Amino acid sequence: MAQQQAGSDNLMIMPDHAEDFITRIFQAAGADLAEASAIAGNLVGASARGHDSHGIVRVPRYLEAAERGHVFFDRHVSRVIDNDAFVLLDGQHGFGQVLGREAVEAGLEKAEKQSVALVGLRHAGHLGRIGAWAELAADAGFVSIHFVNVRNSLLVAPFGGAGRRMSTAPVTIGVPCLDGQHFILDFATSRVAEGKALMALKSGKPMPGDDLVDANGALTRDPHALYGEVPPGTVPNPRGGSGALVAMGEHKGSGLALACELLAGALTGSGNGGPEDRIWNGMLSVYMKADALNSPVENGPGTAQAVQDYVDFVRACPPADGHEAVLVPGDPERRRFAERTENGMPVPVEVWQNIVDAGAALNISPQSPSA
Ligand code: NAD
Repeated sequence: MAQQQAGSDNLMIMPDHAEDFITRIFQAAGADLAEASAIAGNLVGASARGHDSHGIVRVPRYLEAAERGHVFFDRHVSRVIDNDAFVLLDGQHGFGQVLGREAVEAGLEKAEKQSVALVGLRHAGHLGRIGAWAELAADAGFVSIHFVNVRNSLLVAPFGGAGRRMSTAPVTIGVPCLDGQHFILDFATSRVAEGKALMALKSGKPMPGDDLVDANGALTRDPHALYGEVPPGTVPNPRGGSGALVAMGEHKGSGLALACELLAGALTGSGNGGPEDRIWNGMLSVYMKADALNSPVENGPGTAQAVQDYVDFVRACPPADGHEAVLVPGDPERRRFAERTENGMPVPVEVWQNIVDAGAALNISPQSPSA
């Protein structure tokens, strides 16, 4: 179950144990079993793949959002525009774990018929780790590209700016590979996702490197720059501080973040910035049926084989000093998943205690029998 990790402040939690517990918590909070499992599976899936920032640390925040009427159980996408190649979906502030899957399914259905599809999703509760949606598409044989923004979540300073103007706006690209080890590039356009600052805050450790600036635009490693002072027993609010996250890749990453804001926020109608207390995701996704792109050149491999050959060629690159191996995006998550499924996920004691407390408030304990 939960065991202290030797020499650290972490507990080692087995993913299936966490998933069962968190499913029961969300059921007690008002979700039916299918929705509760989707939420728990997605959060545990992110933690098990090494993206702790988008994993179970978010349980109290999701519960609080539901309690405050910022996100709603049992909501599904409605079709605002629907034509051959394009569908615009409104998530009606439901849980992103349900809406994200529905958006992928809508995209695959259209791309199955037309080879390509464009899907806009607006007003979606937090969509979690966007790579999960690209994996779903890749497993079904579809290339996908996702641009995402977070409405009402100004956290990131644009290149050359000293204030907050953009969300952490992730970009994700998935390309299916013949061996099932798909290329999944999935990152926030801030140097780090906001949840990484949350994990630093929770574990009482400074942020690494050049990821945050204070109110004057000076680099700082203190996560309080983002959250301000957090009274005990309260859920940290990233609006609470006067600093900002730094955009990745200087002017290039800052430009990519702005592209996400335009594509996922302005063009879907989900919106950008804003003063409201609640947040939601917008996402613009392109889906391509990989088989439909297959146009082998004479004596050459089909495109699926060409993808596999090239990815293998990159993996075979000799590692530079200090690196064990060259990995392809998607590999680190698969490695971590294998390791954590076997040995458990390291979870800071405070993070697990917050989940246990949230469960206790709903009369759910980690030891209760499964629902
Ligand atoms: P990150 O900086 O850890 O980068 C992850 C990407 O880099 C992955 O594609 C991974 O496979 C690849 N990668 C990592 N190490 C590698 C290596 N050594 N060689 C090759 N590739 C490597 O990710 P992040 O920016 O911290 O984002 C974390 C998560 O947060 C993502 O899943 C993202 O979708 C999610 N996110 C979600 C929201 C939202 O609103 N829903 C907002 C921001 C971020």
